[in-house]
Amino acid sequence: MPFKWFGKVSFVPYTKVSQFADELKEGRLVGSRCLSCGHVSFPPRADCIECLSPDFEWVEYSGKCILHTFTIIHAAPTGFDDIAPYIIGIVDLPEGGRLLGWMRGIEKEEIEIGMPLKVVPRMFEEIPEIKVYYTLEKRE
Ligand SMILES: [Zn+2]
Repeated sequence: MPFKWFGKVSFVPYTKVSQFADELKEGRLVGSRCLSCGHVSFPPRADCIECLSPDFEWVEYSGKCILHTFTIIHAAPTGFDDIAPYIIGIVDLPEGGRLLGWMRGIEKEEIEIGMPLKVVPRMFEEIPEIKVYYTLEKRE
């Protein structure tokens, strides 16, 4: 599995999908499309989860998304307790896939399932891992 999620950070081993980080640095959010069966995946996967094909192409994502669900974290895991309570959202990406991110600049009273949001990728790079997290922010 190329991504392991915990909290606001995911770790991406350097693999065929390391271009993902280069694209992020340029401000582009990309997923992968399988050249064998057409399955689109976000985050990008080097090997298709549907047909196991190793052949894929990059698909640029707009960053636009729709709130699928959310939760407010009051009892935060170690290392995050100083920022609790905070809000985590899961969004549907119109190009395919879902993404989990930290909802930023949005009061809980404003939140509605189905509201339009935008994904803002944020990245720290360390060898041999790239750390990426996303904030979900208001879209006008
Ligand atoms: Zn496939």
